[in-house]
Amino acid sequence: MRLVVVGSGIVGSACAYAASVLGADVILIDSDRTGRATSAGAGIISPWASAVDDPEWNTLACSAARAYPALVGALAEDGETALGYRQVGALVLTDSAERQREISLRLIARQARWPEMGEVSLLDPGQARGLFPPLRPDAWAVHISGAARVDGRLISAALRRAAGRNGATVLPGDAALRCAHGAVEGVTVADQFLAADAVVAATGAWTDAFVEPAGLTL
Ligand SMILES: Cc1cc2nc3c(=O)[nH]c(=O)nc-3n(C[C@H](O)[C@H](O)[C@H](O)COP(=O)(O)OP(=O)(O)OC[C@H]3O[C@@H](n4cnc5c(N)ncnc54)[C@H](O)[C@@H]3O)c2cc1C
Repeated sequence: MRLVVVGSGIVGSACAYAASVLGADVILIDSDRTGRATSAGAGIISPWASAVDDPEWNTLACSAARAYPALVGALAEDGETALGYRQVGALVLTDSAERQREISLRLIARQARWPEMGEVSLLDPGQARGLFPPLRPDAWAVHISGAARVDGRLISAALRRAAGRNGATVLPGDAALRCAHGAVEGVTVADQFLAADAVVAATGAWTDAFVEPAGLTL
């Protein structure tokens, strides 16, 4: 299968790597746009406390957090250890003991399904500042021990290198989607047409413009 992945932020790089492990013929293309979110992201991996009330989003985000240790292990076996990944725990901050309790109850309700969130503990403002001194003095916190952080730039570069070793081609350039008769045929990069069985739009904030030729809007 020929897969073209457009965008090599953390999403496109991870997709290209996973597809290359599965044996696809992968081409990963990126135009290095200013504003790539992966270069700005804080890298906090702690989706469990999210206030988003969409079960599909929550399943996707929590499954992604669950996948990290295995991904980090697989990359390490491949010699890629500089990812900036570490399980460091996270603090969810709030301004009252009452709200702190609500947050902890939401977390505890999700704990059975997502045990990798680890221990959930309530910290008063003094305890919270003990862990992170720059906090304001009246911040109550819920501590989640399983939370981690990753350096998006490092891990996406590692994923691209590993995909390359598995045979993926990494190309610079601005890709335009090419469609005919209601189907995606591939992409055009610098006047060169690249046919594909499937195209992944990992184009971040530029996705609306990229998928427009397919008649799609997000
Ligand atoms: C300030 C900030 C803090 C954040 N903090 C966190 C956090 O703590 N935890 C967390 O989980 N998330 C965080 N995020 C969100 C996270 O960074 C993004 O969800 C993630 O990086 C998105 O990755 P992406 O690969 O989808 O997009 P991007 O990283 O934006 O990559 C898209 C790529 O597509 C390329 N591209 C676009 N169009 C084309 C085209 N036509 N042809 C070729 N290439 C193209 C661009 O050049 C770009 O490299 C944060 C985001 C920001 C901005």
